[in-house]
Amino acid sequence: MAETPTPIHVVCPVCGSPDVTCDATAKWDFESQQWVHGGVQDEKTCQSCGYEKHSFDEVTDADLTPEQRGFIYDGEDYPVPATIKVCG
Ligand SMILES: [Zn+2]
Repeated sequence: MAETPTPIHVVCPVCGSPDVTCDATAKWDFESQQWVHGGVQDEKTCQSCGYEKHSFDEVTDADLTPEQRGFIYDGEDYPVPATIKVCG
């Protein structure tokens, strides 16, 4: 029996925020007459501090900080540490 891989969270390596996004493409599918998912870009962006890079940290649920857990599960704002300069 195959083992289920451990789910991961993607977090910013600078401020630790789990509010991370990446761009994706969609293709028009003639058969279904709708846009279908075409792929995900490698570049990721932290929505909390503006950091952009291909490589972001991956952590398990057990490794989340209380702040990361609050953002993911309780809808709380992620508190960017004051020592980090927010871009954009
Ligand atoms: Zn960040």
